[in-house]
Amino acid sequence: MISETLFKRLFHATDITVMTGENFSTQSRFMFDAEWGGYPVNKITSLKTLKSNPEIFWKYIKHVKSSIKSVKPNLGHYSLIDMERFFNLVTIITENIDGLHQLAGSNKVLELNGNINETYCIDCKNKIEDQNDPILSQLIPKCPKCGGLLRPDIKLTEEVSHEKALKEAQDVSSFCEVFFLVGINEYKEPASNMPYISKANGSYLIEINEERTSLSDTVNEFVQANPAEILPKIALVLDKLKSKHK
Ligand SMILES: [Zn+2]
Repeated sequence: MISETLFKRLFHATDITVMTGENFSTQSRFMFDAEWGGYPVNKITSLKTLKSNPEIFWKYIKHVKSSIKSVKPNLGHYSLIDMERFFNLVTIITENIDGLHQLAGSNKVLELNGNINETYCIDCKNKIEDQNDPILSQLIPKCPKCGGLLRPDIKLTEEVSHEKALKEAQDVSSFCEVFFLVGINEYKEPASNMPYISKANGSYLIEINEERTSLSDTVNEFVQANPAEILPKIALVLDKLKSKHK
């Protein structure tokens, strides 16, 4: 199911990039809501709602945070850490906000849409370091320094991707030798540009997903599979190849 070409490319590669999406977290049983309490989620997670109705905004954010707390990284997340042994650099680019890659222990994670477990004040930018801080369980969490509204460090509806993460993601995409697209159902800009940047710079693109996507015809290799099952197998074969040539 996986080509020899991929293993050859992986065997000789020093830097690889793995871009992960929604379907990867779903394997950990984390579900993304489209609607909540009768409202579309993108309407709730907007700056406009934070300012006009912070109670419903935070009610939803707390709901997501508590769902994430009960979720554990899956074997796919762990196999990416396992692969760090074989390369100089394994960079994860993710649109997910659940922090599961960090929880699993990945060293280099670029979160294009931020991380829901980070919080700061919209006025003075003061960061709340402790996610168990009782402030965050208040109906409308307010900044202890200035009384301003607090917000999670995620991309809200009116906002663009995190600039620093995006810039770094473009950089690694341009020099990595193998680029994995894993568990992404729908490609949206700017994340959708990365595979093109990478391919134009000579990398090998492999997509792993349960369904075909708009990029399946563009990649060098499409593997129709559950990423949480196939990534550990790839790591295992790579391990054998590497130890044979030690
Ligand atoms: Zn403040």
